[in-house]
This record gives sequence, C-alpha cells and structure tokens, in this order.
Amino acid sequence: MLTDIEVANLVTKTIQGVIGTSPTILHEPKFVGNEWNYLKECLDTGFVSSVGKFVDRFEYELASYTKSKYAIAVVNGTAALHIALSLSGVKPGDEVLIPSLSFVATANAVTYCGAIPHFVESETVHLGIDAHKIREYLKSIAEIKSGQLVNRLSGRVIRAVVPMHTFGHPVQLEELLKLAHDFNLVLVEDAAESLGSFYHGKHTGTFGLFGTLSFNGNKTITTGGGGAILTQDEALAKHAKHITTTAKIPHSWDYVHDEIGYNYRMPNINAALGCAQLESLPSFLESKRILFHKYKDAFQSIDSVSIMEEPKNCKSNYWLQTLRLGDELKTARDSLLKNTNDNGVMTRPCWRLLHTLEPFKNSPKMEMNVAESLEQTLINIPSSSFLSSLIV
Ligand SMILES: *Cc1c(COP(=O)(O)O)cnc(C)c1O
Repeated sequence: MLTDIEVANLVTKTIQGVIGTSPTILHEPKFVGNEWNYLKECLDTGFVSSVGKFVDRFEYELASYTKSKYAIAVVNGTAALHIALSLSGVKPGDEVLIPSLSFVATANAVTYCGAIPHFVESETVHLGIDAHKIREYLKSIAEIKSGQLVNRLSGRVIRAVVPMHTFGHPVQLEELLKLAHDFNLVLVEDAAESLGSFYHGKHTGTFGLFGTLSFNGNKTITTGGGGAILTQDEALAKHAKHITTTAKIPHSWDYVHDEIGYNYRMPNINAALGCAQLESLPSFLESKRILFHKYKDAFQSIDSVSIMEEPKNCKSNYWLQTLRLGDELKTARDSLLKNTNDNGVMTRPCWRLLHTLEPFKNSPKMEMNVAESLEQTLINIPSSSFLSSLIV
C-alpha cells in the first residue's frame, strides 16, 4: 500500500511520462490555421464589430458541423444559456432542474431569468444528471397540475431541465428526453463543453428545444469569448437572433425595437477566429483522442487511478481529460493536486458542487451522494490538443 505522497508522486511522473516535463496548463488554445488571415481581413476591411460576413459564415458552418437546423452566434456561452432558457418559457419564480456538478454558468443563467436553480444528482458512468433518480424524486415531490409540473414543497412550477455534457462526455439523452416528455419539462442542453461530442451518432446540443455552446479560451475551439444557441425550430431561431441583437426591426434608417433585447451578438472579429478554429476542429479532436489513449495506457499500471472514458454508443470530444480516483484514494486527492501543480503539471479538482456555493445554498435540491463522491474523486489533467504531438 502506497502512502498518499507516494501515489501523488507516481501520478505526477506518469503524467509527465506522457506529456513531458515542461510546465503545462490545463487547456491552451492553438492557432495553426487561417486565424491570422481572417483576422487581417477584419482589420483591413474595418469590419471588426457588429457588421461583417464572418458571423453569418460561422453560424452556417456551426450548423453544418453539428447538423443543427439553426445556429445563432452570441457573445458567450452563459448568454446563450440565458436566452435559450428565456425563450423556453422560463419565467421569474419558476424552478429549473440543473446538475449541482457543473460550472457556475449553468446556475447563473437560470437566475438571470428570475428563476430558481433546483439541483439534481449526477450519475457515475457519464458524470451527467441521473434520469432514473430524478424520475423517482419528481414522483415524490411534484405533480402535474393543468399541464404544468408543480413542486409540492415550494408551490413553484418546475419548467425545464438542463443536462450538461460534463468535460465533453454525452449524458444519457434518451432517458432524459423521456423524463422531459413524461413530466412536461422543456429540455435545454448545456453543451458548452461538448462541441465535437456525439450521442448515438447525433451531435450533442441538437436533442433539446435548445442547445448551447461556448467558445471561451479554454474550450475545444475558441473565439476569444463566444457562444452559440442551437435549435431545430425556425421561429425560435429567428426570435433568438432578434433578441440577441437588441430586438431591432430591420429598417434602413430608423431605430425601432419591438421588445426588450440584449446586446449579446458575437462581434465579427471573434467570428473570424471561430471560422478558422472550426477548420482545425477535426484535427483537434483526433489529437485529443490520441492523448486520451496515451494517458489510458500510462495509468493502466496504477491501482485505483483510471482515466475517464467515453460512455457506450457515444463519441466524446475529450475536452478535459479526467482522472478518476478510487474511493480509497479520496484522502490522497489534495496531496495529488499539490504535487502535480508544484511540479508544473496543472491539475484541477472538479468544481465545488453548486448547491454549496453562497448564492445557491438555499436553493431546492435532491440527495447528492454520487455528485458528492464525484467531487472528491475527479481531477482534470493537462488536455490541450497539441500535447499528443499530432499538432505542433
Ligand atoms: C464554459 C461553460 C459555460 C459557458 O461559458 P462562457 O464562459 O460563458 O462562454 C456554461 N456551462 C458550462 C458547463 C461551461 O463549462
């Protein structure tokens, strides 16, 4: 039996055996394609902001890649979620089911609608929300009244459910779609982490009424900051475009705005970066998969440490590679984080569960045994696409 410190040392050495000993961060962007050309074109023509051809092109190419009927580019992933929830009919005072095991943006977007996040349990294979446990939970605390799911404890309408594809691993969509159907919930996918991830051959973010993407600097591709809304519904797509661009009625000189809109549009200069990054996406994905296999082989020899693998019938983008510690190594987690970071290998624990954060600690929630255990046993390790040396 190794001590915690010995395990930590071994993990650091094993990661360095795969990626080398130079200091490495968790996820670095890589610009190896047409980025300079497209950015230069923006600067040379003066179209850096709200007008220019790259936004339309980026939206078109995102829709083609994901096979989503519509894609609307916006200023970031959080704004995308805000608008997707709002157009799903989420109103002030509603509750929205979201994973406690997620990045804070998922919960923040719910509150921007005046709604209340209602935190639900995760599942251990794919790390997303657990459709079966949520079903049993809803049976016990909620009932359908005049077509709406009402929380008997709070008296509020539970309007929507927002699964998130954790670190790029698709959640069990089939069962969640059934759940949403049976309980009259709108399903919106937080696919911020899963560009390039497919569930049963279909791109994540295209199953719900809406799906949302993020192109923040640490995501699989980046536009500096950016996001997108995916939907298969033409009217909703038009509405999403309209209210993310100040709800202005097209007119050659007059300013007429027909509802409260948002300045959530993606600037042309960011979309230019996005067009170039999308061209590199296939090679990024290939490279990240190679890195996964290298880590998998390397960690085969360490008991109680394994690497997170894509769920069955799914293709993950392997955005962030994730170590899973056996329960017996829970106590070693912090020495492991310290040892790796002290040696230039950037690692991070999973997020703090959202229901424990100050702004959300009074929010409704279900029992969270699995999410609590995952929080203690998941560690993200360096995952940049160039670390497999396919891309240099
Ligand atoms: C990155 C991320 C977002 C949104 O991110 P932005 O930084 O606003 O683009 C939303 N949800 C999850 C789970 C994320 O990881």
